Amino acid sequence: MNSQIETGLARSSEIRKMFEAGIALRARYGADRVYDFSLGNPQFEPPVYVQQTMARLIDALPAGLHGYMPSAGHRSTRLAIADFVAKRDNLEVTADHIVMSVGAAGGLNVVFRSLLNPGDEVIVIAPYFVEYLSYLNNYGAQAVVCQSAEDFSLDCQQLEKCLTARTRAVLLNSPNNPTGVIYDDETIGAVAELLNKAQKKYNSIIHLVADDIYRHIVYDGKSCPSVASYYDNSLVVTSFSKDLALAGERIGYIYLSPSHQLKQLADAFAYTSRIMGFINAPSFMQKVVENVVSEPIDIEFLANKRARIAKILNDAGLQVTMPDGAFYFFLPVPGINNDQEFCKFMREKFRILLVSGSSFGRPGYFRLSYAVADQVIDNSRQPWCDGVGAWM
Ligand code: PLP
Repeated sequence: MNSQIETGLARSSEIRKMFEAGIALRARYGADRVYDFSLGNPQFEPPVYVQQTMARLIDALPAGLHGYMPSAGHRSTRLAIADFVAKRDNLEVTADHIVMSVGAAGGLNVVFRSLLNPGDEVIVIAPYFVEYLSYLNNYGAQAVVCQSAEDFSLDCQQLEKCLTARTRAVLLNSPNNPTGVIYDDETIGAVAELLNKAQKKYNSIIHLVADDIYRHIVYDGKSCPSVASYYDNSLVVTSFSKDLALAGERIGYIYLSPSHQLKQLADAFAYTSRIMGFINAPSFMQKVVENVVSEPIDIEFLANKRARIAKILNDAGLQVTMPDGAFYFFLPVPGINNDQEFCKFMREKFRILLVSGSSFGRPGYFRLSYAVADQVIDNSRQPWCDGVGAWM
């Protein structure tokens, strides 16, 4: 076996392990006695207009629906997405700036494969989506971890210290998984200033890669700025996995800032998709998202879940901060500050499945996903109260 894969397999991400543990616990105790908050896999169906679009397409079966197309994706899909992005972000994005991808994970791998040489450095902000480290490792790149501030806002002084002549990219995820923090206009402006300065100093190109997968899941009237409005060498990767609950359908896209210095990057992404064996993003799903990309996203039901679980966590005696976006709480472990032990304790004694902060590069915390059925949230009240009480 490839030694890198062998090591990775042995370490295997805690989130994936939790996925298996959830299945085993449900089989043993019954689904209504397991409180699985471990996965960012939306436990709700895609909106009705998405389901209707799928049914309509299957019915109409337009020619070429299931065939290959150019690796960048169907032109009509890229036109629809470019139109949506251009209007939303007030940028001159065209179909030529868009490359369809196999989810955001596929998109990030295409971007990293296209940009990075072994030994290149990519700055990742902690806490981070754990798979980022594996994605960078795939291409022999070095993840340089930059801790965020106490409140998880971006610490620009730390970021500045992480920039070197070998920095090829900075990877931002806002709203953030796991913290829910949104990097506001001022923050993105400050990052852009730092990167422009560093590009001059090192006479290099530093790409600002934004993982925008939770961009439309924001609460209380907040909004999330586009990095491409602030920084020329920006690349945005996103998908419909979370906001349209299409995670298993593997559909997303990359867009390149119209002012990016490397004009040939979109071609590079299409070529890379091909040689990585993706060939193209799923054709049927491209056609689905082409028809729904401009529909407003309803997150009211997620806001309700957020309020519902927050009340329970508060009542259980936890210190709760409301996240601004995404669908996670990332909270300090109460009492004895051992996050891995806490998660094990809650799982083994109370069948509450969580992920430790250590998995995200920030020990002392735990993450819970509330993209679960209301019933799971409501049924978890007593176990939460008993569990936290017993831990303290
Ligand atoms: N990026 C972040 C921050 C995520 O949380 C996830 C999934 O949980 C992904 C990327 C992968 O998303 P996709 O299903 O679109 O590949």
